[in-house]
Amino acid sequence: MSYSKVHRYFLRTIASSGVMSVDEAHRVLTKFTGEPILLKNCIQEINDVIRPYQQSIKVTYNESTNEEVVIFLTHAWDSISESQKIFTAKELDYFRLLIEEIMSIDVREITGINAINLVNKMGQKISMLQAEDLLAKWCKIYYLEKIQNKYRLGVRTINEFEDYFEKYMPDVMKDCYICKKNVFWGANCIACEKAIHTRCLNQYLEKIKKWPCCKINFSPDQLKQLNESQRMTQITQTFEDTQSIEERSENSTASNVESDNTEEMERSQNTDNIRRLSRKRKRE
Ligand SMILES: [Zn+2]
Ligand SMILES: [Zn+2]
Repeated sequence: MSYSKVHRYFLRTIASSGVMSVDEAHRVLTKFTGEPILLKNCIQEINDVIRPYQQSIKVTYNESTNEEVVIFLTHAWDSISESQKIFTAKELDYFRLLIEEIMSIDVREITGINAINLVNKMGQKISMLQAEDLLAKWCKIYYLEKIQNKYRLGVRTINEFEDYFEKYMPDVMKDCYICKKNVFWGANCIACEKAIHTRCLNQYLEKIKKWPCCKINFSPDQLKQLNESQRMTQITQTFEDTQSIEERSENSTASNVESDNTEEMERSQNTDNIRRLSRKRKRE
């Protein structure tokens, strides 16, 4: 199928909502055409068109909500473009601080108070009230998620900055023992501490009730804990986390992609990104 108004309609919808469930995406396509269209093909055809603008649509798994979702991404954090659409430079400074803070903690989430207090590190450039508004806004566009008054990285941040995390925060990133992809929330093996996605671990446990890496048995308590936790946290704290941040590099600037003239590009939001966030973690 060649690029048509169906593609344009779908792109416009996903670009303005940022994230939608796969079911919802199917509904959008069917509603427009009256007949089922293969989502995968549609996305691929759109991606061929928007790739030059460093944008893409991706079907991914939201670790946090255990849901298959379609997300609209911009891949511009390493772009030299400094143009801004939504965020001011200081807002992006704040967002960068948030990411750093969230990534520096093993459970990968920070309290609302912590999130707001980060503005103090910016020399009052953003008030606490403004911070509150920004946090709400970033949750709305899926850059952050708020669960029980705690903030974690949203599915868009995780996917847009995947390469970025790898490049600038390699010591903080962990690959899932099973699928080899980045783990943001998950379980750590009780023996070797390897990280594993909750979903990957659950799929494995359907076949065999052992840790996949060390083949150690799961206790009924651990299984219960795993099944109860929607979020990925360490099942057992086997060690004191003595890691601390030794060094931070603050060479961050914001950048975004220039949109093209077509309607869907104009409507696309969140073309702002963050670059050069780095840290080194060392064992004390
Ligand atoms: Zn995995
Ligand atoms: Zn292990």
